[in-house]
Amino acid sequence: MTTSSPVTFEHDPDQTCADLLRYIDESPTPYHAVASSAARLSSVGFTEVSLSSDFAALVPGGYFVTASDGTIVAFVRPRRTVTGFRIIGAHTDSPNLRLKPRALYEKAGYLQLGVEVYGGVLLNSWLDRDLRLAGRVVVRDDDGRLKARLVSLTEPIVRVPQLAIHLDRDVHEKGLVLNRQEHMVPILGLSDAKKPKVGDSQLVQELCAHTLGLRPSQIVSWELHLHDSVPSVRAGLSRELVFAPRLDNLGMCHAALSALLRAHSFDDDSGVVPVVALFDHEEVGSSSDHGAQSALLPQVLERLVVSTGGSRESYHQALARSLCASTDMSHAVHPNYVDRHEANHRPLLNGGPVIKYNAQQRYATSLPTAALMIALGQQAGIELQQYVHRTDLPCGSTIGPIVSTLLGIPTVDLGNPMLSMHSARELCGAADPEQMSRLLAHFLVSRAQVEAAR
Ligand code: ZN
Repeated sequence: MTTSSPVTFEHDPDQTCADLLRYIDESPTPYHAVASSAARLSSVGFTEVSLSSDFAALVPGGYFVTASDGTIVAFVRPRRTVTGFRIIGAHTDSPNLRLKPRALYEKAGYLQLGVEVYGGVLLNSWLDRDLRLAGRVVVRDDDGRLKARLVSLTEPIVRVPQLAIHLDRDVHEKGLVLNRQEHMVPILGLSDAKKPKVGDSQLVQELCAHTLGLRPSQIVSWELHLHDSVPSVRAGLSRELVFAPRLDNLGMCHAALSALLRAHSFDDDSGVVPVVALFDHEEVGSSSDHGAQSALLPQVLERLVVSTGGSRESYHQALARSLCASTDMSHAVHPNYVDRHEANHRPLLNGGPVIKYNAQQRYATSLPTAALMIALGQQAGIELQQYVHRTDLPCGSTIGPIVSTLLGIPTVDLGNPMLSMHSARELCGAADPEQMSRLLAHFLVSRAQVEAAR
């Protein structure tokens, strides 16, 4: 295996961290994350192409496709037939609370909004926060055409109040028990007995229409998510920490994108294509028309091979020369719960990217892919950490095993260390985003393969 890198990448941890905070605050929902990603790609010359357009018409350069507003795949079309891929995968969605279709109702003098719990939410973390609404609507224009639009309400207008301690005296002894249906319902305001609004969705349509400068009758359907209104910040004694929502997994979406922005102009005429695929629906199993289990990524890759003069055979040959880095945030050791980590695998914040291992294949890391990342890290001067879950606790998973299974290509699972995963407000190190971005940039331009033992 040869890993000597053909390039070096500039090092600016503060700038990368500041851009991460902007990216997170611009992206309260997966749809906004895709729009923020598209804007960053467009700013360096990538062009959006429709999935229904003819890829054969593409000239060499950077492109991206989006699917259902929640998934984005960016790639660089080479000047010759595609011979392989370096794929970085991540997910755009985060656990949150989402409004039900007929959300509005009245109870005990309050106006409330019915919500569904999306993914593995730490329910307590959503209590007593000033919450905003964001999402997308489908609008009918004057010609009768339907078009999706993003929407983000500017004011924090809802809140899920926790029960006072005087009414829940044994909360510390018995633990806080929250029923998803009964106890997570946010308050929107006070009801007016003279104007009952029970079961009415008109008010939500009016809110969206007002924000977008439209008539309520133009809003055909809508999907709104709750999110914390407090902006992301650098924090800690020496500003070495980040306090922010949705670090899992916008932290890795940002690292993948910034790696591609660093590496996209590298062209060694090898026909190896850098790809960044950011998927929706990871937090609920990746099974949807644009999730990581869908046909989307294989189809885009195959069409790219064929459009550069390759055949189905050369597509499969290219897959055999490909590698994937599945990037998803990782668990740093928690000072108040040190025993939750296996003693020799306790990732530290700002200790560098974490390689994740799991014998049950909940993470896709294999011996060769781990070796490749370790070698790339050594060469780039980036410390790597290693993580394995306690054997007596069920391990989470990522899109890594899914993409690896779907495409049949060796994959490594990586992530930056963080605390409070799946909380409405999470915590990571301020130096790690830069380290991960540079490591992934080296991965995209690496042409190394690990030769098999014989
Ligand atoms: Zn995740």
